[in-house]
Amino acid sequence: MRLHVIGCSGSFAGPDGAASSYLLEQEDADGRVWRVLMDLGSGAFGPLQSVIDPADLDAVIISHLHPDHYLDLTGLEVFWAYHERTDLPQLPIHAPAPLPERLSAVLSRDGRIPDGTDRVPFEYGALTDGQELRIGPFEMTVREVQHPVEAYGFRIRAGGSVLAYSGDTDACPALDELAADADLFLCEAGYVEGRDDRFTGVHLTGRRAGDCAARAGARSLALTHIPAWTDPEVPLAEARAAFPGEITMVRPMDILELSS
Ligand SMILES: [Zn+2]
Ligand SMILES: [Zn+2]
Repeated sequence: MRLHVIGCSGSFAGPDGAASSYLLEQEDADGRVWRVLMDLGSGAFGPLQSVIDPADLDAVIISHLHPDHYLDLTGLEVFWAYHERTDLPQLPIHAPAPLPERLSAVLSRDGRIPDGTDRVPFEYGALTDGQELRIGPFEMTVREVQHPVEAYGFRIRAGGSVLAYSGDTDACPALDELAADADLFLCEAGYVEGRDDRFTGVHLTGRRAGDCAARAGARSLALTHIPAWTDPEVPLAEARAAFPGEITMVRPMDILELSS
């Protein structure tokens, strides 16, 4: 399984990159490469086009409906609805149930059909806690996590390896379950110990991400979702004090290979 970091800036696009978006690739037994996008936050549709032709996407997963995780679906929808290829199938989008109405509101229109076309470009599926998703060679477990809005984390098995993705969350038992023995735990660390102690139930810190990775027995930890106003060395040091395994701080355009 290959993970491309398209955007990883926390809460809003930063000067050096877009908000959250990660592309997963895995070849199936017939040699076909499947491509699933996890989140498409503010600014991320631009750099996605420098990594793949978005028409090659097989599905999109949206962890929750904060703009830094879904807003650039507006661009992807325009791309899909008005593409010169008229044989594009409906693109499956797995997201919290209110997504279609939310996108229609952002685009100032009624319903799901873009102006001037006669078909719905996206096929929506509502995420639920405990759901199991199968997309080509990807097997995904969906768990609701701890955030101010309906939000999900994911445990993804493909090619003999396991990737866990926190989405946005504070520490919670579901996150520990998702990360259990994961080969790579892609985990947000949007807050900093001390500075952000007045908030609870929103984001992890580097320390809380490291604590979770240690409890779960994850093999390696990749920190993400660091806002532009935070020095990444701070959450990195917090995580290193809590988790003895390998830790990386992801950067835009990083490629992480998971091997079995
Ligand atoms: Zn976020
Ligand atoms: Zn959020």
